[in-house]
Parts: sequence; C-alpha cells; structure tokens
Amino acid sequence: MDEVLVIGSGPAGLATAAELLRRGIPTTVLERGDRAAAAWAGRYDGLRFNTSRWWSALPGAPFPRAYGWFPTRDEYVDYLDGYAARHHVPVRTGVAVERIDPAGGRGWRLSTDAGPMAARHVVVATGIANRPALPGWATGTTYRGSVVHSADYRNPLPYRGRRVLVVGGGSSGMEIAAELARDAPGRCCCRCAPRRTCSCGPAAGCRPTCRCRSSSGCPCPWWTRCSPGCSG
Ligand SMILES: Cc1cc2nc3c(=O)[nH]c(=O)nc-3n(C[C@H](O)[C@H](O)[C@H](O)COP(=O)(O)OP(=O)(O)OC[C@H]3O[C@@H](n4cnc5c(N)ncnc54)[C@H](O)[C@@H]3O)c2cc1C
Repeated sequence: MDEVLVIGSGPAGLATAAELLRRGIPTTVLERGDRAAAAWAGRYDGLRFNTSRWWSALPGAPFPRAYGWFPTRDEYVDYLDGYAARHHVPVRTGVAVERIDPAGGRGWRLSTDAGPMAARHVVVATGIANRPALPGWATGTTYRGSVVHSADYRNPLPYRGRRVLVVGGGSSGMEIAAELARDAPGRCCCRCAPRRTCSCGPAAGCRPTCRCRSSSGCPCPWWTRCSPGCSG
C-alpha cells in the first residue's frame, strides 16, 4: 500500500507531492494523461500565463527571468517538468482514477483504468478546468459551421479565410480572438457580456508587482506603475 497517492500532476499535485517527499513521506502522483502536467501541455499553442510570473511560481521555485512577465504554455510545462525532476516526484502517467472508496479504516481503495490501488492517504488535485462544457444552445441547432470548444482549439491555421465568432470574453476567449484576428485574414468578433475591464497593464505604463513599489499609481493590487529607470 502506498502512503500517499496524489491524483493529478498539475502544479497543485506536483507541489503537494514535493512538499510531502521533502518531509520524508513516500508519495506517488497518478496522472491520466501521457505526461506530467498533461492539462497544461494539452492547451492551445499560443497560451500565455495571464497571471504574471511573480504570482504563479511554486514554493521555492521562482520562474527564470528569461520567461518574461507572462510565461508561455511551453515554458510553463518545462518549468513543471523541471520542478518534478528536481524534487524527484514519481509520476505514474496513463492512470485515470475512476473511484475512491474507504478501505475499512485502513486508508483508501482506488479504482483506476490501470487496475486497483490502495493508499493510506489520497490527495485529489485534479484541477477545476478539465471538463470542457459546451452550452446547450451551441449544439443541436441548424447551424452548419463547426462549433469548437476552446479546449479543442489549437491555433489559427484551420480558420484562415473563415469567419469566426468567439463566444466568451474571458482570458481564453480574448486571447484566442486576438490571435485569430492577427493571424487568420477572416473576420472575428467576440460577443459576450464584458467582465469588468481594467485599465492597468503595460499600455498604461504598469508592470505586475514592480519591485520598486515607490510610486503605485495603479488601482489594481497586482499592477504597479514603475518609477522611471526601474527594471522591474
Ligand atoms: C486556458 C487556461 C488558462 C489558464 N491560465 C492561468 C493563468 O494564467 N494563471 C493561473 O494561475 N491559472 C491559470 N489557469 C488555471 C489553471 O488551470 C490553474 O491555475 C492550474 O493549472 C491549476 O492547477 P491544478 O494542479 O489544480 O490543476 P491542473 O493543472 O488542471 O492539473 C490537474 C491534473 O489532473 C489530471 N487529472 C484530472 N482528472 C484525473 C483523474 N481522474 N485521474 C488522474 N489524473 C487526473 C489532469 O490530466 C491534469 O494533469 C488557466 C486555465 C486554463 C484552462
């Protein structure tokens, strides 16, 4: 029986496992994908962090400065791979956990597509954004074009010369709409109830949590207007 099984090898699962291992507690991570950090590795090509590198690092592992303020998907996946390797986190890939049951006071029984497993403790770190949901109105209509969830979108190439409607103005929708508008010479619009928009950002001369906090002219807590000459 394993002491601790962590389900999911995203940042939460890897950081939890690393901290347990650091304290000498035998821990294994189970991941349904074919690699560690599968959720991030499977997202669209142009994805960049929208939380800056200052806010998104794992314990004791700052992002390399070379990543800039907003690491790319591939940089983040490299970062997670490096983190797992440095902390010797054992990740068993290709194991989807389907059910967990109490084992009569002796921990937990796990049903997985790789067979039954048992552990004294289980940490569920399966994330909150791994079940794509297509609203009912987007399916089963007379519309004859293709309907694609952002989880299945990769890059603008298949959309060259086509008219695209992006529904949803959150981080993914806006990022995808921007790259479609830039790279695919078709038409693209984003129709949504806009969320509160923030004027802070590079265009307003702000940086995420600039190290010199001397002049904070920005209304958002995570942006600071940098003093002249500050390198951030
Ligand atoms: C497009 C997009 C952009 C995002 N950008 C940001 C950002 O800029 N900044 C930010 O802070 N957050 C961002 N997020 C949210 C981001 O997903 C989380 O911050 C972070 O990845 C959550 O980490 P996690 O470890 O909890 O889950 P995840 O990273 O989702 O990892 C969960 C892992 O569990 C695995 N798993 C799931 N179910 C099972 C199962 N049954 N058995 C075995 N393995 C399983 C998955 O394959 C996955 O690898 C973004 C999310 C999306 C979808």
